Amino acid sequence: MFFTTKLDRVDVVVVGSANADLVVSVARRPSAGETVLGSDTRVLPGGKGANTAVAAARNGAAVSLVGAVGDDPYGEFLLKSLGSAGVDTTRVRKVTTPTGLAFITVTPDGENSIIVSPGANSALTEADVDLGDARVLVASLEVPITVVEHAVALAARSGVRAVVNLSPVAELSPDTLAVLDPLIVNEHEARALPGFDCSRSVVVTLGARGADVVTPEGTRRIPAPQVDAVDTTGAGDAFTGALAAHLARGADLVAATEHAIAYAARSVTHQGAQPPRVAPPGK
Ligand code: ATP
Repeated sequence: MFFTTKLDRVDVVVVGSANADLVVSVARRPSAGETVLGSDTRVLPGGKGANTAVAAARNGAAVSLVGAVGDDPYGEFLLKSLGSAGVDTTRVRKVTTPTGLAFITVTPDGENSIIVSPGANSALTEADVDLGDARVLVASLEVPITVVEHAVALAARSGVRAVVNLSPVAELSPDTLAVLDPLIVNEHEARALPGFDCSRSVVVTLGARGADVVTPEGTRRIPAPQVDAVDTTGAGDAFTGALAAHLARGADLVAATEHAIAYAARSVTHQGAQPPRVAPPGK
């Protein structure tokens, strides 16, 4: 059975990936040709699109994810976990390609090494994008760039506010960049920008230092609260989802960024990109 959660109303449409994160702790990373033994595998819901959608839902928005999963137990796990977080999954298509997987090794110093196998996420097409009567579109780049550019163009034509988290970094067309309000980048991604005036607004996330909001009026630094960070994986996704939820509710960009910083700071105090609620396959 294909598990689907339907909402009557949608404020925020997220276009992005859904992956199962397979996480193994190791004493040290193997070098080429070497085998090391690790911990049992933890299976967690992840993917930038799904993480963002869950964060937007936790911030009170009615959210729908446009995405794709495989017809396999990981796909079912991701749909159930999205549904239990209150995310509408009627726009998640089930495809024959296997569900996207992220193979994550964590060493005692807390560093992650990640291999993403995009799988079903690569099967997402322009035809899958349906913005309904949403107020805000949010996209990230673990799905084909053509789909993101199409979604942004559709949003611009329909009067829907378009937000893109440029992660992983990709070269968006000037037409796409021009309508984003905001474009969200971290400090590394900011270096790939043609200029801070490429979009209507740009938010640069600065990790523990908070974020800069860059608009034609100037740049405003908003600091983050001091927290004991346990795992910063997905902090950018938590930030983006929370920001979109507050924009959809009518907050201005500075106020929405303040809420997003507070939410993302809380998110780094627990393990995983999303708080897990549904048992993974086989449990
Ligand atoms: P990731 O790729 O890990 O998802 P990112 O590099 O895209 O993250 P960051 O700039 O590291 O994004 O973090 C996004 C936001 O999360 C920051 O703007 C901040 O609000 C919050 N944040 C991240 N790390 C911390 C921290 N150590 N303490 C408090 N807030 C944090």
